[in-house]
Amino acid sequence: MTIGPNSVVSIHYKVATSEGEDVDASEPGHPLTYLHGHGQIIAGLEAALNGRAQGEHVHATLAPAQAYGEHDPELDMRVSKKLFPAHVRNELQPGFRFGAEHPKQAGVQVRYTVQEVEDDTVLVSGNHPLAGKTLVFQVDVAEVRAATEEELAHGHVHGPGGHHHH
Ligand code: ZN
Repeated sequence: MTIGPNSVVSIHYKVATSEGEDVDASEPGHPLTYLHGHGQIIAGLEAALNGRAQGEHVHATLAPAQAYGEHDPELDMRVSKKLFPAHVRNELQPGFRFGAEHPKQAGVQVRYTVQEVEDDTVLVSGNHPLAGKTLVFQVDVAEVRAATEEELAHGHVHGPGGHHHH
């Protein structure tokens, strides 16, 4: 069968940026298994796999808009530590995450990550680390099957590569 809405798909994959920097890969012998058409993998890759069959090799080059979005320079900011509640100020370190409004777009919530801590300020970024990158996927479709009714009711895959909560 071919990949379509509600297929359970197992893939071996490798992804790099268009500059040749390795980003991620499935572990040898352990394909990624997901429920197709439910936004469980990035939209551009899901679109590239649509209609493909077991055994096919798929090469997909995804522009930033189809992957993790464009880099938004307004989301890289230096902010005063005073903006954080007192009990949080001492916990500020690279990797600390928090939600706040977009600096220019009222009502748009953004997840920020602290990049650097300075004396009175911190550098924060609301950009995904892969924002602005073109991604090149090499995918081997290992298996395609129809989802069971139970999997559709739960919205995720059961069995090898999926959830094991039953
Ligand atoms: Zn379940």
